[in-house]
Amino acid sequence: MAIILDGKALAKSIVKEVKTQVNAMAEPPGLAVVIVGDNPASRVYVNNKKKDCQACGIVSTEYALPEDVGESKLLALIDELNQSKDVHGILVQLPLPEGYDVQKIIQAISPLKDVDAFHMLNVGRIFNGDYSFLPCTPAGVIELLDYYNIDPKGKHCVVVGHSNIVGKPMAMMLLHRHATVTVCHIHTADLGFHTRQADILVCAVGKIGLITGDMVKPGAVVVDVGINRRDDGSMCGDVDFEAVSQVASHITPVPGGVGPMTRAMLMRNTVMAAN
Ligand code: NAD
Repeated sequence: MAIILDGKALAKSIVKEVKTQVNAMAEPPGLAVVIVGDNPASRVYVNNKKKDCQACGIVSTEYALPEDVGESKLLALIDELNQSKDVHGILVQLPLPEGYDVQKIIQAISPLKDVDAFHMLNVGRIFNGDYSFLPCTPAGVIELLDYYNIDPKGKHCVVVGHSNIVGKPMAMMLLHRHATVTVCHIHTADLGFHTRQADILVCAVGKIGLITGDMVKPGAVVVDVGINRRDDGSMCGDVDFEAVSQVASHITPVPGGVGPMTRAMLMRNTVMAAN
């Protein structure tokens, strides 16, 4: 049975650390959370982020806008938040409703307040290995690996999923840690061939049961980023946990793995933005 990479416990200790840092600051950091429309999953994420801020002593302010607020009003709000000295971090909850130009909105956020690290300037800096903010999910994965003394150096890391927010920065960060990195995606032929090569397998797709026991090399470290809902409403990842935990050396659970780490990294980025 694999060792569980307990993101929930590690995130709790990071939140505690962040709280200590916040307590030592003259003014608490401010995080503006912008949500457009009423996507139920986004609402849950925003509520959780607000709870995390409360736990750390970060002042979070929610800007809940109707779905039809329109791009120009949204851009005007971002401009106002960019100028505000009480706001150190700005987060626009994704996905935005249909019709919004996501890139235009994200690029309007000041790179100095871009706590999600989605702005092109921050994305480019990650590419160069010279960064301040890191995107929360891949940063959380690296933090978890570090905590369990799993060093990617010289290992073959296979990342399944090539999105801008998870897969691509994940691959880049593993490369900076001197791993040999393979990136797979929806057009990859024979996914299992690639995943079976992995010493460290990171899956960020959003498909229940995508990674089965026979797709994992014995002794591999398996990190499941996926978040899915089963028909009964319960949460699960992309990895068949029962089968894969019999084969892997280490595995993240869902829930309780990468999710809490992502949230903790946002708190860390917000404090960094305020310093
Ligand atoms: P996305 O939809 O932007 O990207 C999905 C990726 O999966 C794409 O690269 C696509 O090519 C690939 N893919 C789709 N089907 C595939 C298949 N059959 N085989 C191989 N690759 C396939 O999604 P995203 O935003 O990167 O998120 C991925 C998953 O991670 C989702 O379940 C999301 O909810 C979850 N997520 C979790 C956290 C967290 O904190 N745990 C954070 C962000 C995203």
